[in-house]
Amino acid sequence: MIAFDYTRPASASEAIAIAAKQAHAKYLGGGTNLIDLMRETIEEPTALVDVSTLSNTIDVRDDRILIGAGVKNTAVAAHRAIRERYPMLARAILAGASAQIRNMASVGGNILQRTRCTYFYDDAAHCNKRWPGTGCDARDGFNRNHAILGASPACVATHPSDMCVALAALDATVHLRGVDGDRTMKLIDLHRLPGGRPDIETELRQGELITAVELPSLPSAARSTYRKVRDRSSYAFALVSVAAALDVDDAGHIRDVRLALGGIAHKPWRAFAAEAALRGTPATQPNFRDAAEIELKDAAGLRDNTFKIELAKRTIVATLSELNGRDRS
Ligand SMILES: Cc1cc2nc3c(=O)[nH]c(=O)nc-3n(C[C@H](O)[C@H](O)[C@H](O)COP(=O)(O)OP(=O)(O)OC[C@H]3O[C@@H](n4cnc5c(N)ncnc54)[C@H](O)[C@@H]3O)c2cc1C
Repeated sequence: MIAFDYTRPASASEAIAIAAKQAHAKYLGGGTNLIDLMRETIEEPTALVDVSTLSNTIDVRDDRILIGAGVKNTAVAAHRAIRERYPMLARAILAGASAQIRNMASVGGNILQRTRCTYFYDDAAHCNKRWPGTGCDARDGFNRNHAILGASPACVATHPSDMCVALAALDATVHLRGVDGDRTMKLIDLHRLPGGRPDIETELRQGELITAVELPSLPSAARSTYRKVRDRSSYAFALVSVAAALDVDDAGHIRDVRLALGGIAHKPWRAFAAEAALRGTPATQPNFRDAAEIELKDAAGLRDNTFKIELAKRTIVATLSELNGRDRS
């Protein structure tokens, strides 16, 4: 680990001003990802700007909930309004990491946590994300956990966050502050597909700080869930995950559906094609399966992860069927 400056500013504006003065500053949330990466010399910031004590409130209104970027993952999952209005989000967070890590991890840090591709963490491996232009050892290596949608010849890594999959399904908006002022962006537009530059992972500008995440009013999300398929039942990243909300009318037709997938792409994957195919149709397993086929039609497997294509389809069907069953009980 290299030497670095550490500051704990009293406000977001102060944090941005401090970060702007340093070429290689990083914001520090709970440190559960960044400090590990620093220990491995994968990240080498010369300054850490500790934002973990800023933006620590959850503001609940009828038409939206605003979650400060510094709020701990545990506090989000435990909040009554989140559990009642957006259960998929509480479940997604609780499906991730361990209680100790969730107690430390912040909302901002969770969103910007980096991939768990083992080759990214191995400094003896070729990795375009770590060193652009050096190649990707995961392509022909051990790639059981890697991407089946949206990957590129340069990178097949996945985004590891569970929380972000629910935020994608819920149409969450991210609030940002930088030297040029405030702006907002849909969570689904924040992370990038790898293309030829997998080292550029988000649409954030240099030094921009996440200040909050906004959940819009979405009554159908009260009947929502998160299903995570993984190699162990705890403390493991998703092979495939599904965040879903389903609103079915009295005649059994789908009024609204929200669907996002995790563990399968370089970014949380909103299943827009499947949603469009499902709206207005009867809520039946064959229709769920048809929608899953549509969403996964461009999926491509590598040596070890082709099973994830069928797994993703089945997980979509199982998750929607579970919600549909709840509708009818
Ligand atoms: C053993 C282990 C198992 C795990 N399992 C899971 C799992 O199953 N599912 C899952 O989703 N996650 C899992 N995680 C990852 C965990 O969720 C993340 O480490 C955590 O969410 C990161 O949050 P943090 O606040 O600690 O971020 P930090 O480590 O502090 O920061 C992460 C990144 O975000 C940046 N950052 C932090 N806050 C801001 C901000 N406000 N604005 C701009 N940039 C910011 C930092 O500069 C850094 O680049 C696991 C982690 C470990 C160690």
